[in-house]
Amino acid sequence: MDFASLGLSEPLLRAVAEQGYDQPSPIQAQAIPAVLEGRDVMAAAQTGTGKTAGFTLPLLQLLDGGRRAPRQARALVLTPTRELAAQVGDSVATYGRHLNSRSTVVFGGVGINPQIQALKGGVDVLVATPGRLLDLHQQGAVRFDDLEILVLDEADRMLDMGFIHDIRKVLRLLPAQRQTLMFSATFSNDIRALAKTLVRDPVEVDVSPRNSTAERVLQWIVPVDKNRKAPLLVKLITDGGWFQVLVFTRTKHGANKLAKQLNAQGIEAAAIHGNKSQSARTRALADFKSGDVRALVATDIAARGLDIDQLPQVVNFDLPNVPEDYVHRIGRTGRAGASGQAVSLVSADESKQLFDIEKVISRPLERRPQEGFEPEEKLPEKGAGGGRSSGGAGRSRNNGGGNRARGGGGGGGNGRNSAGGGGGNGRGRGNGGGRAQGGGNTNGGNGGNGGNGGNGGNAGDNGNNNGNGTRRRRRRRPAANTAS
Ligand code: AMP
Repeated sequence: MDFASLGLSEPLLRAVAEQGYDQPSPIQAQAIPAVLEGRDVMAAAQTGTGKTAGFTLPLLQLLDGGRRAPRQARALVLTPTRELAAQVGDSVATYGRHLNSRSTVVFGGVGINPQIQALKGGVDVLVATPGRLLDLHQQGAVRFDDLEILVLDEADRMLDMGFIHDIRKVLRLLPAQRQTLMFSATFSNDIRALAKTLVRDPVEVDVSPRNSTAERVLQWIVPVDKNRKAPLLVKLITDGGWFQVLVFTRTKHGANKLAKQLNAQGIEAAAIHGNKSQSARTRALADFKSGDVRALVATDIAARGLDIDQLPQVVNFDLPNVPEDYVHRIGRTGRAGASGQAVSLVSADESKQLFDIEKVISRPLERRPQEGFEPEEKLPEKGAGGGRSSGGAGRSRNNGGGNRARGGGGGGGNGRNSAGGGGGNGRGRGNGGGRAQGGGNTNGGNGGNGGNGGNGGNAGDNGNNNGNGTRRRRRRRPAANTAS
């Protein structure tokens, strides 16, 4: 399939060709014709799938040739972060370069006056974060009487970041008669509830099964004691010859500290997070892209929406508390079909996060200990994956206690999984019984025995559960939630 068959006009096809895109990505193939038909769209797609072009291209075509009135926006794209807003703005400019369209980007943290000026004559496409948009509206700088199209980008992240009230306020300002496109990496119940109030008879597009990124990206973990993570990272970067590494930390403070540590070891690093000024963030990103900075250390929110083509290497210095963030993080590599690798440095206190992640991606992450960095505090062996027969911490024991788990979705099945992995079809039938012994070190009750499927025992969380003939039936993850 090529772009021309999607019904795009010549100026847009030319811009696409100039980008070097040969063929539409799956989301583009599905979303572009639907948007061009004027349909509402609800799409499950994460960053890296080409979703931005998926809505920007048809949007520009629909708006082409229409009239702009002063202070009016004809299309509004709402994004959760400034970085994402800037990137979407860049895409609008890139794809619209052969059209006579006008667009602008507005977000907080920078002066408002230039934004007021830019809106004066009216715009075809306004890309905005919610807070600044409301400020501008309150000041009379922008109006929406002529609004034709609303795009809500990364809706799940908007809710995570607490923007729901702002979004509702914005929605009240928009005409009811409009076309609405909603993109989200995940479709939780909250997102669906929001969607109900937003879209009408939408075309539903789902191109990103939960672990599609996970399958493309080579991933492993290195067990390590917390206080040795920084030296381990230095070694991995140096030995691996990694020249462009995006490193995730859980906190802003952690990001700053790690960037300092890396710099002290001769690895050029910059931190990027919400406390940094917009110009500092933009500079760090530019230096990273140009290769002047070798390691960019980021928090989840700051990294959201960073568009760095085919980033080869992602490191989770800390595991995220929310397992879906892991999927977002590794989505930074292996973008739009390229492969990449993601390594996580995991200390014993992060075993719960690790098991949660393994549940979400429906498979265990390979442990690759690094010589000289073997942890004193052992990481419990198993997660959601089944596939390992010896329990963590050397203290668990399989005793065939008759746990029996059945069903797809998350972990919990001890014992043999056939056909696990890949989206939770594993049908686990347990013999394992996951019984862990030992008081102090109770993690790692690994009943999972054999099996290469994704969804084996969960006993490792507590270690001393299960194993006594209990039987449980796994709850099936709602279908609505399978995309990420
Ligand atoms: P997005 O998911 O919108 O963040 O896009 C991810 C990356 O894929 C961006 O760097 C785009 O430039 C690139 N991209 C988008 N569409 C295509 C395509 N059809 N072929 C190749 N690369 C693409």
